[in-house]
Amino acid sequence: MSTNWVNKKLAGWGRYPVVEMLCARPQSPSELRQALADRGADSVLAFGLGRSYGDVGLLRHGKAILTERLDRMLAFDPESGWLRCEAGVGLAEIIKVFLPRGFFPPVVPGTQFVTVGGALANNIHGKNHHVDGCWGDHVRRVELLTASGEIVFCDKDHEPELFWATVGGLGLTGLVLSMEIRLTPVHSPHIDMETVRVNHLDEFFEVSAASADFTHTVSWIDCAKRGLKMGRGVFMRGRHAAADATLEKSPLTGVLDLVKSFADGRPFESNLLLNKLTIKAFNEAYFRIHPAGTHRSIADLHGFFFPLDAVDNWNYAYGSRGFLQYQIAVPHDPEHRVMREVLRRVSDTGMASFLAVIKEFGDQQHGGLSFPIPGVTLALDFPNYGPALFALLDTLDALVVEAGGRVYLGKDARLSRQHFRIMYPEWERWRAVRDRWDPNGVFKSELGKRLGLVD
Ligand SMILES: Cc1cc2nc3c(=O)[nH]c(=O)nc-3n(C[C@H](O)[C@H](O)[C@H](O)COP(=O)(O)OP(=O)(O)OC[C@H]3O[C@@H](n4cnc5c(N)ncnc54)[C@H](O)[C@@H]3O)c2cc1C
Repeated sequence: MSTNWVNKKLAGWGRYPVVEMLCARPQSPSELRQALADRGADSVLAFGLGRSYGDVGLLRHGKAILTERLDRMLAFDPESGWLRCEAGVGLAEIIKVFLPRGFFPPVVPGTQFVTVGGALANNIHGKNHHVDGCWGDHVRRVELLTASGEIVFCDKDHEPELFWATVGGLGLTGLVLSMEIRLTPVHSPHIDMETVRVNHLDEFFEVSAASADFTHTVSWIDCAKRGLKMGRGVFMRGRHAAADATLEKSPLTGVLDLVKSFADGRPFESNLLLNKLTIKAFNEAYFRIHPAGTHRSIADLHGFFFPLDAVDNWNYAYGSRGFLQYQIAVPHDPEHRVMREVLRRVSDTGMASFLAVIKEFGDQQHGGLSFPIPGVTLALDFPNYGPALFALLDTLDALVVEAGGRVYLGKDARLSRQHFRIMYPEWERWRAVRDRWDPNGVFKSELGKRLGLVD
């Protein structure tokens, strides 16, 4: 049977840009192959759960393969933790099925609503990057439907170049059908965690340096603060709890209540919910919820890893214009000059970020188009203020480039080709591998075209 293509408006999590695509929803590998064969002259791209922020998963005048129905778990070995599953399986599903059996995904982002295919394509990192690296560090084999229609199993020994180009390959090397991932054994559905209130950026780095014993670390900061209070925030660190740990009241409960109260009953489409004033009020309240000093508690795992999942569609709170996330990584610098300058410029423009998250990465690095480098990463969410915001981000890119840093492509919607090429010096090698497997440009994306990853 030929493929039924349905016209849909698609967007990433930032709801900018919005693109119309003809979409297929195959529910078996054979329907997926059929869809690839039925694409006509159009290029195609996989679309997972749409939790990338910008245009990495979009293609104007192209065809989208929605992977949501390719969601079967195929095999699991409880001795080793190896799970083989289709690419449309979501992390939420893995957690639901395997947490009660004592296993957890090896790496999770700040939402559980991503597919394993999306996790591989952006080679995602989590709060445990300094210990466990990225998603690709825990994948042993990938089954890929390539541009020619051939299915290739690749791993670190067989077709290793294709394997590494696909890890963090932004969906441009082919359609991932399935993969083998090693789940992490855990003894509890809770997290043994500490929150530490930090008063400025130097204190963040001091606490981070003193947190090497914790498998998971991350910090929220109030990026509207300037001067001596620049970098004020709350450092969170934790580890999977012991088997006998019981849940306690933690500051996370207050955070969830705060997030929900901001969303509650407000007109999501009005462009009013997240403006400069509410963003400021939110940041102040978030800081005050946390007790001064260090506070230890046994917290709910979902609240620790995925606090924003408590509010459905919170991305609509920025209104119809959408929002952009700007995530950078820069190498270590004892004076943290770029971080300071970025925060200074953001607060000077008054374009406060609702969420600002900072974390020190570990030394694991993949090369190719994978984002993490040894150093520190900062993620900022901005309402889409239009040209003023784009101009600000261009100037921040220049600072980041100068410091040897980079922008996370999985969250990008506007980086220039010129800056990209300096940020990701291995792009040409990556492209040579991709072009070998897809010489006619079957797989394309808006981001790929903008950055010169495809023609
Ligand atoms: C609240 C929130 C918090 C986040 N926190 C983090 C974080 O801490 N760390 C981090 O690294 N990321 C984070 N992210 C980003 C998110 O983890 C990634 O963008 C992830 O790739 C999204 O997966 P998805 O299934 O939604 O994929 P989509 O967004 O739909 O697609 C992403 C890319 O994957 C490709 N793709 C999807 N499926 C396949 C397939 N089967 N074969 C080939 N290519 C495929 C698409 O073509 C596209 O290029 C966060 C996102 C949100 C919304």
